[in-house]
Amino acid sequence: MENKTYYIITLGCQMNERDSENVAGILSDMGYSEATARENAGIIIVNTCSVRENADNRFFGILGQLKKIKEKAPETIVGVCGCMMQQQQIVDKVREKYSWVDLVFGTHNIHMLSELLGNIIAEHRKIVSILGGSSEIVEGLPSKRMFPFKAYVDIMHGCNNFCTYCIVPFTRGREISRSPGNIVREIENLVKDGVLEVTLLGQNVNSYDGQKGVSQTGDARVGFSELLQMIENVQGLERVRFMTSHPKDLDDETIAIFGNKNSNLCPGVHLPVQSGSSRILEAMNRRYTKEDYLLLVEKLRAANPDIVITTDFIVGFPGETEEDFDETIDLIEKVRYDSAFTFIYSPRFGTPAAKSKDQVPEDVKHERFNRMVKRLNEITLEKNKLYLAREEEVLVEGVSKTNAQMLQGRTHGGKLVNFPGEVGIAGHTPLGHIARNDSSGAESLIGRIVPVRIVDVNTFSFIGEMV
Ligand code: SF4
Repeated sequence: MENKTYYIITLGCQMNERDSENVAGILSDMGYSEATARENAGIIIVNTCSVRENADNRFFGILGQLKKIKEKAPETIVGVCGCMMQQQQIVDKVREKYSWVDLVFGTHNIHMLSELLGNIIAEHRKIVSILGGSSEIVEGLPSKRMFPFKAYVDIMHGCNNFCTYCIVPFTRGREISRSPGNIVREIENLVKDGVLEVTLLGQNVNSYDGQKGVSQTGDARVGFSELLQMIENVQGLERVRFMTSHPKDLDDETIAIFGNKNSNLCPGVHLPVQSGSSRILEAMNRRYTKEDYLLLVEKLRAANPDIVITTDFIVGFPGETEEDFDETIDLIEKVRYDSAFTFIYSPRFGTPAAKSKDQVPEDVKHERFNRMVKRLNEITLEKNKLYLAREEEVLVEGVSKTNAQMLQGRTHGGKLVNFPGEVGIAGHTPLGHIARNDSSGAESLIGRIVPVRIVDVNTFSFIGEMV
């Protein structure tokens, strides 16, 4: 009997997670259900990421594991998709060396998945189908969401920025924005289904330009701040987040919304800086200086002194000197981030920086990386201590992964909180949304916003107790 189950392995960013929700939605519509483990699945899809070398290596490692599954169950269909498949040399490698892969598709033709699978099943052949780009966003794809109470909403696809280290503009194509009307309608429907929090997604949400879609208001252009204002008006929506921002495009209008106490925009912004050296920023083609960035931080804190600011750093970009690195440490001291993701530079095939002759030696990169992480963590802990005894509204997302007695959720600013859940304490439930497992104890709070007092903190999370 045909095995009508699927298993999806998602690598990389939130955009990929959102794409995987669409892949799951299409497979569900085709009558497939989710398998409990990859070994049991009739279809296994790996959604790949090409931002860093690590993710590439992980992908090829996973393909090696899938070979064993395919040997035991040859009828299993193995599919691969995502950013890596938009690179010809990767597709060639998969075709030559990984003969057990049945389907290769890209970031621009997820909507064709049911047709492609239908052909594989009917004709027993392998298919590679990659589109080079797309001039429009396919709306209305089925979707199987990961959470019932929070959702990712993609507002734009692609990127026009060509940072010299980044492969994304080559794999995701040029920027295209969804129409504001479609975005708002999607969010209204999500809220009707019980969603309290949406995260707006795009490679550079601040350059959202609804003009290319059909404006609901008939305006010539709907920029990001106008879109946020439209979304603010969705009744019942408690929280709005967005990622990722580009410092060169974060405008005063958007910053002003962070200052509006009645807004449902969460007071947290992920603002990747990458380096504190203006010289390196120029080499990265980031199109802002250290001073421009510091001014943005000043404006954000003026709008809302409590705003949580997080960032990304790349350590060891080609040509980075000790003086450049000192500039980065100086920026860290000035901004005092709530937290940061730090990455050691890894060359990405086809990008200008990968061709530079001025690569930083591995040991130097690692030494700088360790120094930076140590200082960032110290500051994070110092900042977290300011939350002690404070009462925070926490959206409960689930049971803690490390302690089954604890629930886990996020504050408005996005800080992670673990706390013991109590039975029967009603959370804030607009629209009368009833959380799952109501009768089974602590889990009944999952999907609700509850008040929690912070009683202890460490670098990566808070401990709280319900008020
Ligand atoms: S803004 Fe730069 S880092 Fe971000 S996706 Fe575009 S090119 Fe890559």
